[in-house]
Amino acid sequence: MGTKNEPGEFDCYANAEPDEPMFVLLARDASAPASIEEWAEKRAQDIRDGVKPESDWPMVKEARECAGAMREWRKRHRDNYKPVVAKGDLVTCTNGHVIGEALRDIKIGDLDWGSAFGNWRQADIPTPGYVGKPPCAICGAAFIHPDPGSWSMHFEDGWRPDSWPPGHPEHPK
Ligand SMILES: [Zn+2]
Repeated sequence: MGTKNEPGEFDCYANAEPDEPMFVLLARDASAPASIEEWAEKRAQDIRDGVKPESDWPMVKEARECAGAMREWRKRHRDNYKPVVAKGDLVTCTNGHVIGEALRDIKIGDLDWGSAFGNWRQADIPTPGYVGKPPCAICGAAFIHPDPGSWSMHFEDGWRPDSWPPGHPEHPK
């Protein structure tokens, strides 16, 4: 496995012939880990079948480690921390009545959503930290998702998050 800072033992850029085509997968690509594991499995089978030499095992091992490292990197840099709410986004009931607004950007891994909202437009609407699920004071429609256990909130463009990203502990299997 290699990174820009630390090229790996099997760094293809260093090993490539001057005019040899190459194709690089980055961890930001959601399909990269599974694609690399598929490649590793094929190479492992070729070694077992005698098509490829036993000396290729370290490359198979490194590919599998790279796929795992990509998944970890994605958890830290992509999946769990994707911003879903921007500062100033308006919370509305499902009929569009404005309830309040986001005081800061919110990323999907944030646990403290309660403190991220304020400037409530409706007098009897919760203070930050409120954990109930009150309806809109004007029309009675929900602005916190009614499903038990859901923390999605309604914005002008719909529920956010509308789903947890793959790999997140809350993601439906
Ligand atoms: Zn309403």
